[in-house]
Amino acid sequence: MDMLRCKALRGHAWEAIASDADYGPDIPLSLRCVVCGTIRIDLLDRRTGDLLSRRYDYPDGYRELNTSGVNQRLMRLAFALRTNGTVRGFEQPAPHSVA
Ligand SMILES: [Zn+2]
Repeated sequence: MDMLRCKALRGHAWEAIASDADYGPDIPLSLRCVVCGTIRIDLLDRRTGDLLSRRYDYPDGYRELNTSGVNQRLMRLAFALRTNGTVRGFEQPAPHSVA
């Protein structure tokens, strides 16, 4: 899984995944980032579709990557260099498991 891409570009690439978890009367909309493995669960009101809550479950190490200020710029630079084949070997953590 590639955390650098999502951090550098400040966005995830979501795919919808099925959920059989019991959220009572609320309807879950579960998404997983195909790049880094982050999970997003939105809870929707069954009648109105309103977003009631949103929760993220990040892969190990994701939150430790600081994306503010200089670090954000350096991550973007590292991603560009890696994408262009200039550098290799940025941390590739194990895939995130889904409960
Ligand atoms: Zn991601």
